[in-house]
Amino acid sequence: MLRAIFGGTFDPIHCGHLNAAKALVEELNYVTIHLMPNAVPPHRPQPRANGAHRLAMIECAIRSHAHMCAEPFELNQDGPSYTAKTLAAMREHYPNDTLAFIMGMDSLLTFDQWFDWQSILACAHLVVLPRPGYQLRTANSTVTQLLHDRQVSSPDELYQDSSGRIYIANTTLTDVSSTAVRDALASGDSAEIPSQVMTYIRHHGLYSSPL
Ligand code: ATP
Repeated sequence: MLRAIFGGTFDPIHCGHLNAAKALVEELNYVTIHLMPNAVPPHRPQPRANGAHRLAMIECAIRSHAHMCAEPFELNQDGPSYTAKTLAAMREHYPNDTLAFIMGMDSLLTFDQWFDWQSILACAHLVVLPRPGYQLRTANSTVTQLLHDRQVSSPDELYQDSSGRIYIANTTLTDVSSTAVRDALASGDSAEIPSQVMTYIRHHGLYSSPL
């Protein structure tokens, strides 16, 4: 059994996140995807919506999808949401499962700047989502070397080691970001988010102003 932790700010969850998660359920065998909003992202502006709203929007988005759950773990921790610490705790919590961490290509390109990234690879595999505008060929030498040493070409290979492999998924490109969604909502435009999430946002009056 593979537990794939999809971490992010999810401010809000959008069709890029959900389409990727749906495709990964098909592409990776025997997977449960934990969509996990961070509490205090260490390297970016803090989220507009609070953690409870971001988790609830994930719950709305995945309601009709099997093999996915909304993961509150980081919202229940104090301090910055460091992936290395989270995965170490998950490792203890799920001793019999293989762990993977899902990230977009933009995140992989800066992975060597993440806090204690070596520990992340000691706890989990990485599953990387292609993302428009972010090319593997622009990776720096550290990330290039990591891929040289650790990349696997088939998801089956993720089951052959307990951690440390990198798989670049075959998910289709979806050109959307939460930033674009927040901007569209503040301007009253339509946004690429699941309809249930739109209903939640309207009900709670989220993202209605630019800041
Ligand atoms: P923001 O615009 O606020 O920075 P975002 O759209 O990048 O947000 P996050 O919640 O920060 O969304 O992303 C969580 C993870 O999902 C990150 O690893 C990110 O790279 C990945 N991701 C987000 N959007 C996409 C997308 N359209 N395609 C592939 N990966 C994505």
